[in-house]
Amino acid sequence: MSSTDFSRTANKIKPFLVMEILDRAKQLEEAGEDVIHLEIGEPDFKTPEVARQAAVKSIEDGLTGYTHSLGLSSLRQALCEHYKKEYDVKITPERIIVSSGTSPLLLLTLATIINPGDEVILTNPCYACYPNFVTFLGGNIVFANLDPENGFRFDEKKIERAITGKTKAIIINSPSNPTGMLINPEQLRYLSDFGPEIISDEIYHGLVYEEKAHSLLEFTGNATIINGFSKLYAMAGWRVGFAISDEKRIRAMQKIQQNFFISASNFGQQAAMAALKNTEQFLPEMIKAYDERRKLLLKELPEIGFEIHNAPAGAFYVLADARKYCKSSYDFAFKLLEQTKVAVTPGIDFGQNAEGFIRFSYTNSLSGIKEAMSRLKEYLS
Ligand code: PMP
Repeated sequence: MSSTDFSRTANKIKPFLVMEILDRAKQLEEAGEDVIHLEIGEPDFKTPEVARQAAVKSIEDGLTGYTHSLGLSSLRQALCEHYKKEYDVKITPERIIVSSGTSPLLLLTLATIINPGDEVILTNPCYACYPNFVTFLGGNIVFANLDPENGFRFDEKKIERAITGKTKAIIINSPSNPTGMLINPEQLRYLSDFGPEIISDEIYHGLVYEEKAHSLLEFTGNATIINGFSKLYAMAGWRVGFAISDEKRIRAMQKIQQNFFISASNFGQQAAMAALKNTEQFLPEMIKAYDERRKLLLKELPEIGFEIHNAPAGAFYVLADARKYCKSSYDFAFKLLEQTKVAVTPGIDFGQNAEGFIRFSYTNSLSGIKEAMSRLKEYLS
């Protein structure tokens, strides 16, 4: 069967390049090579014990069926309390829907907004999967190109200039994957006055080392927030995420969820709830460890010739300028993997604007990062 036999929708989806690097890295490992992983955006920490125990207990108690299609009401209530404590915003459980990770919620949200031909504004670079969600639903992407020379700092004026009569939504992500940049409160306030719906992906909230991340909900109730447990709580494989919006949109999303995904797993939601309620047991240590790794990369990468135009303040990524070494970040990332057994992500995965850049993910130990830096240094000199 050739690719022309598949639907146009299927053919429009591009591969997630980081997964291709990971696949090759795994192949090398199977052949006995010692690969250092700085490519994948997945915490290397174990899921906190309190969450693991809550899941085991729920399974042993027989809580193994479907849950409410909006998610457990106790989890949604706990999320309301979390948003009050963290951001001083009041939300109700009816404004929350829980799903199997943040990814399905991006699909559910955009599915309630986009008609074929509608435009969605994305920054360039942006999280690699966003464009695929939009094109999958028949939408057209309009990119706001951020400036490489200042580390792709968020620019609300560029977003504003990209708005047309066809704009239906704007997706923002702070702290950002791949840049680690934050959108500051003034920028969030400015954005909240724009007409089109703003979808704020806040999945890296809490992973912030210099400032505090603000939720768009602090500035407007007219927004959809996407968030989840994969990153901050080291629960990527548990597949639990949530969205906050107005009740009408949540109902529209719920109908799609009932048909397509039914509900998130009960044990995953129990684990998420336990993690959310006991953050003081594990978060400070994790954040400290990430920050040490971040500082190590910020010191080491420029010494090897990877320029950093603006220090990332959040998430667990450094998007470094490798233009003096390569034109194609894809070829360069594969070359580094083959020659040094250090796996990194090519900037092109996040948009044309990040071509020539390499994303380093500090989801590896300090000693792993040090070893990776010394391998790269030796190879590149
Ligand atoms: N948004 C961003 C910006 C991400 O980096 C990721 C994971 N890489 C996701 C959403 C999806 O996360 P999940 O489906 O695991 O919740």
